[in-house]
Amino acid sequence: MTEVQLQEFKLDPDSELRFEVESKNEKVVLEVKSGYAELFGTELVKGKPYEFHTGAKVAVFTWHGCTVELRGKTEVSYVAKETPMVVYLNVHAALEQQRVAAEQENTRGPVTMVVGPGDVGKSTLTKLLLNYAVRMGRRPIYVDLDVGQGQISVPGTIGALLVERPASIEEGFSQQAPLVYHFGHSSPSENLELYNTIVARLAEVIAERCENNKKASTSGVIINTCGWIKNAGYKVLTYAAQAFEVDVILVLDNERLYNELKRDMPKFVKVVYLPKSGGVVERSSAQRTEVRDARIREYFYGKRTPYYPHSFDVKFSDLKIYKVGAPSLPDSCMPLGMRAEDALTKLVNVWPSPALHHRLLAVSFANGPEDDVLHSNLAGFVCVTAVDMDRQMLTILSPQPRPLPNTVLLLSELQYMDNH
Ligand code: ATP
Repeated sequence: MTEVQLQEFKLDPDSELRFEVESKNEKVVLEVKSGYAELFGTELVKGKPYEFHTGAKVAVFTWHGCTVELRGKTEVSYVAKETPMVVYLNVHAALEQQRVAAEQENTRGPVTMVVGPGDVGKSTLTKLLLNYAVRMGRRPIYVDLDVGQGQISVPGTIGALLVERPASIEEGFSQQAPLVYHFGHSSPSENLELYNTIVARLAEVIAERCENNKKASTSGVIINTCGWIKNAGYKVLTYAAQAFEVDVILVLDNERLYNELKRDMPKFVKVVYLPKSGGVVERSSAQRTEVRDARIREYFYGKRTPYYPHSFDVKFSDLKIYKVGAPSLPDSCMPLGMRAEDALTKLVNVWPSPALHHRLLAVSFANGPEDDVLHSNLAGFVCVTAVDMDRQMLTILSPQPRPLPNTVLLLSELQYMDNH
């Protein structure tokens, strides 16, 4: 029998316990014994055990002081007294004032974008601000433009959710009826034209929805972005800021980016510099790939609550698979009236071949290729688990039982090896 490690921590007001679970197949159980504590803005229930698994990097923060117990093997565990939480709380308070004003004046609530390089805590700050807003009775919209490490749907997409409850400690924000658009790569640099097109589309749909949902509209929007901030990456950010007509940009830990945005944004956009938390953990590219894999696995198999996906065969002839973006040609070779960039958002027929093995396919709500496919929300994803060229059949893993809806499937560059 392995010995269960037990650690107890007494936290003073305004301090946080940070820990990481690294070893394979390890599980750490956290329990608040007394006082009040929260995890990235979600309140922890006293006496309730919360489980964390391999790869978890966690901070339990307390405003008033508490005692916390950890059971299991942690790689690192320490109490930090220096945190930027008061600064982040002030940002929340300022956003809340704008929401109150929006309610009174019947206008739109604050649209806030969180930017910064990789590993500065953008996703964590986004989550914190959403949790604080929803705890005040707001219904903010969460937008995730991070195609590499986003939290909505699978990697290679951008999306939005209406947040009606704080994030669950183990499962994150409830993923009911998200708006999801296909990109198909893990970095915007792979197809800037397509990325900007879907960002503009998402912004447009959210603006429409806000017109019909006053509560969401006054609560505002919080947008998480990619950590790519230089050159074309910077242009992508400013394009998104314009498309969403942001009011506030929170810049984490990068003075150069802060100054560039201050210079380039219109005067009514508030650009605010924020320090990063010393607790944010840097991830190697191998770890990022692992996180992407884990998100896809969770999509099919669930996180805490298990899902039971279906596996079935589909005839090649019953499928309409496309990829977005034809190889780009110089302008001089393009048909009259077409720009070379137009090719990047064109649908191209894909014939089933062994190259589809392990690939994700987005199931579009569009009826056919003539429908506005890029601008259509996604119904979900399937994964190709086998290609049989002799029988002309694909085996797919799908959250839904057969048949596959008779719609357009969009090929993603992302792969998933199903060895569940
Ligand atoms: P990316 O650019 O890759 O999307 P990011 O800037 O969004 O990264 P986060 O994902 O928010 O960064 O944080 C990186 C990791 O650090 C996460 O695993 C998160 O749980 C952890 N983390 C964030 N804040 C803290 C903290 N105060 N203490 C311990 N771990 C933390």
